[in-house]
Amino acid sequence: MTTTHAFWLAGRQATGEAAFDVTHSYDNSLVGRVSVPTDAQVEEAVAAAYAVRDEFSGLPAFRRAAALDHVAKRLGERAEEIARLITAENGKPIKWARGEVGRAVSVFRWAAEEARRFNGEGMRLDTDAGGTGRYALVRRFSRGVVLGIAPFNFPLNLVAHKVAPAIAVGAPIILKPAPATPITALVLGEILAETDLPAGAWSVLPVPNDKMPALVQDERLPVISFTGSGPVGWSIMDSVPRKHVTLELGGNAAAAVLADWSSDADIEWAASRIATFSNYQGGQSCISVQRVIADAAVYDRLVEKIVEKVGAQVTGNPGDDSVDVGPLVSEDAAKRVEAWVDEAVAGGAKLLAGGTRDGATYAPTVLAEVPDNVTIACEEVFGPVLTVTKVDGDDAAFAAVNDSRYGLQAGVFTHNLQTAFKAQKALEVGGVVIGDAPSYRADQMPYGGAKESGVGREGVKYAMDDFTYERVMVLTGL
Ligand code: NAD
Repeated sequence: MTTTHAFWLAGRQATGEAAFDVTHSYDNSLVGRVSVPTDAQVEEAVAAAYAVRDEFSGLPAFRRAAALDHVAKRLGERAEEIARLITAENGKPIKWARGEVGRAVSVFRWAAEEARRFNGEGMRLDTDAGGTGRYALVRRFSRGVVLGIAPFNFPLNLVAHKVAPAIAVGAPIILKPAPATPITALVLGEILAETDLPAGAWSVLPVPNDKMPALVQDERLPVISFTGSGPVGWSIMDSVPRKHVTLELGGNAAAAVLADWSSDADIEWAASRIATFSNYQGGQSCISVQRVIADAAVYDRLVEKIVEKVGAQVTGNPGDDSVDVGPLVSEDAAKRVEAWVDEAVAGGAKLLAGGTRDGATYAPTVLAEVPDNVTIACEEVFGPVLTVTKVDGDDAAFAAVNDSRYGLQAGVFTHNLQTAFKAQKALEVGGVVIGDAPSYRADQMPYGGAKESGVGREGVKYAMDDFTYERVMVLTGL
C-alpha cells in the first residue's frame, strides 16, 4: 500500500480529506501520495504563524542558529536518501540531485552564521549642525509571516532559500511546495520537527493552486517570497501591490564567447561548460544556458565542439550515476519543448544536434540560424535546447545578450579584465559570470533578476534583509 504523506501544520503532522499522486516522470511509477490541507487547516496554520510572530522574532539568535545548524547536519546525514527522492520526484539525474542536497546543507549553515552576526549599524548624525549631540542606531525587525512559494526544479534548495533565512531572522513561514515535488519539502519538515522552534514558526502546506489566491491575499502574511514562472509571479505582485513581494522568475540566459577566448584549451572549456549547463536537469534551471553568442573569430570551432559534447551526453534513467540528462518534469513539458524546436526548424533554423523526444525525455539539442520571430528565440525554453548566434565584436555580443525581456545571469568568456568590468557594467542582468557559463550560483551571493526575471534578491543574507525592515532610533542630547 502506498504511504500518504502528511503535511506539516504549525510544526506537527496532519492530514486533510483529499490527496494527490506524485509520479516519476521517467517511468510513471508512483513516488507517493500527498495529503492536501483543508481550508480550515490552512487557516489554522496561518493563525498559528501570526500568533507566534513576536515570540519567534524575540527568540535569541543562539537558539535560531542552533536549529539551523541542526537542519544542516541532518540534511547531510540523510543526503543520499533525499537525493534519491529528489531524482524520483523531479527526474533530475542523481549526480545533480546530490549536488542540490550539498547546496541546501550550505544554505542552512550560512543561515546559522548570518543569524549570529545579523546586526544593526550605528550612524553619526553630527555631520551637520542640526545633528549636534545626536546619534542613530539602525536595527532590522521582522516584517512578519512569510509566505514562501517554491518551484519544482530545485525541490530542496529553493525551499531552503526561503525557510533558512526566515528562521534566521525569526519570521514564521508558511511554505507552499510545487505540486510536482512536495515530498522533498515534507521530508525537510521531518528534520525541522526535530528542532525546538516554537509551534507555528513553520508549516509546509501543499495547497492546491486554485486555493493560492486567497492565501496570497491574507493580510496576516505581509511578505511573499515567490520563485517560479513569470506569469504566476507577476500576477501575484499585481494582486497585492502593498505587500512586500520578491519574485525570482525565469530567464533565457546567454553565454557570450568573445574573440580573445580562442586557444584550443579555451574552446574546450567553454564548449564543455556550455554543453553541461544547457542540459543539466534537462535544461530546467532558471540559469541554464539557452543562448550562445559567439564572436565570428571563434564561432565555427566552438560550435563544432559544443555539438560534439552535446552528442556525447548520456540520456536515460536519472537514477543511474552515468546519466547526464534525464526526463523533463512531465511528458507535457517535453512535448512543449518539441513543439518549440519544430516551430524553429520550420521557420528556417538549422538543427545541429538532437531534436527528438522519447516520452518525457528530450534529446540535448543545438539550433543555429534561429529566426527572431519564433518562440524559442524570445521565450524561456526550460528544456535541453541551446541556440547559437554569430556576432562581430564585444559590443555586438553584449547587445545580443541584452536583446531579451529577461535578465537573470550571463556568462562571458574573456581573459581581459577590462572587458570583464565592461560586461558587468553593460549587461542588464543580476549576475555576470566571467570565464564560465551563466549557470554558476553560490548560495551566499545575491541572486535575482533584472527586467522580467524578477524583483528583489535571494542569497541567504539578502533574503534576511528582505524579510526584515530597518527601524532607526535617534538618540538626542549626547
Ligand atoms: P510555476 O510558476 O508554475 O509554479 C511555481 C509555484 O507557484 C508552485 O508552487 C505553484 O504551485 C505555485 N502557483 C501556481 N499558481 C499559483 C497562484 N495562482 N498563486 C500562487 N502560487 C501559485 O513555476 P514552476 O514550473 O514550478 O517553475 C519553473 C519556473 O520557475 C521557470 O520559469 C524558472 O525559470 C523559474 N525559476 C526561477 C528561479 C530563480 O531563482 N529566478 C529558480 C528556479 C526556477
